[in-house]
Amino acid sequence: MAPCFPRGAGVRTVRTVSELRAALGEPQRGGRSIGLVPTMGALHEGHLSLVRQSASDCEVTVMSLFVNPAQFAAGEDLDAYPRDEARDARLADGAGASLLFAPAPETVYPPGFDTKVEVGGLTDVLCGDPARRGREHFRGVTTVVTKLLNMVQPEVAYFGQKDAQQALVIRKLITDLDIPVRIEVCPTVREPDGLALSSRNAYLRPDERVSAAAINRALAAAERTVAAGERDSAPVLAAAREPLAAAGVEPEYLELRSATDLSPVERVNGSTLLAVAARVGSARLIDNTILGDPTP
Ligand code: AMP
Repeated sequence: MAPCFPRGAGVRTVRTVSELRAALGEPQRGGRSIGLVPTMGALHEGHLSLVRQSASDCEVTVMSLFVNPAQFAAGEDLDAYPRDEARDARLADGAGASLLFAPAPETVYPPGFDTKVEVGGLTDVLCGDPARRGREHFRGVTTVVTKLLNMVQPEVAYFGQKDAQQALVIRKLITDLDIPVRIEVCPTVREPDGLALSSRNAYLRPDERVSAAAINRALAAAERTVAAGERDSAPVLAAAREPLAAAGVEPEYLELRSATDLSPVERVNGSTLLAVAARVGSARLIDNTILGDPTP
């Protein structure tokens, strides 16, 4: 059978669920492996690393481009979020995507849409903090991811470790709802000075961009402290706080938690997530590292 999305043929953009289903009908009937990379666009190397991984694992790679209103709180950066579909299409094409699914908000949430998908527990902490109405954020993520998985029906879906809590929430979602998909979580891609790539880095002024690098220095300081034999959470967190304080970056949270269920930990043992969120200028940035033995 001739490949339905021959490599080098260029990425195709579809906007409706019926166009998407029509484009994927033949590969699905032919039993071809389909990978899905959900994104909000404003693509950078982090997103493209997911596309490359999917293109190397799967015969067809679908990238979704959708700035999901449901995961933004009122007053957040929904309107300001960077959008450049033509650039995204070029980059996705170069990384090996076969199909771009770029729906309008009304396609994903048509009039009368009234269903929400919510994962409990994992979404009450870190970015889910009730004080920031974070549970609503994750409800927006899990609702749209459920829809995208149903629309595309991929064999594999790719997410970044940069959003470690999101990746755990999505694993729980597919386990709890028996969604037949494999989740692959890919490593965080960073700038040369360690800053994790993020579409929101575009908001940083030059001086803020310099300060933002302290976030990765904080993670590195904690890693060094653990490598030197320290296991108690207080000195590990103290070491991480130093570079942030020196750069004048006040973390929204800086916490050690189990990398498997996000329960709080007093000592670094097994696989421990050090997660940080900080506002630098108008950008809210998050990052994390796994400390200790990565195999629990
Ligand atoms: P977003 O467009 O921010 O919703 O991100 C789409 C996907 O790209 C999510 O699975 C993110 O975790 C992932 N991602 C974002 N930044 C990075 C990065 N620096 N390295 C690896 N993956 C990333």
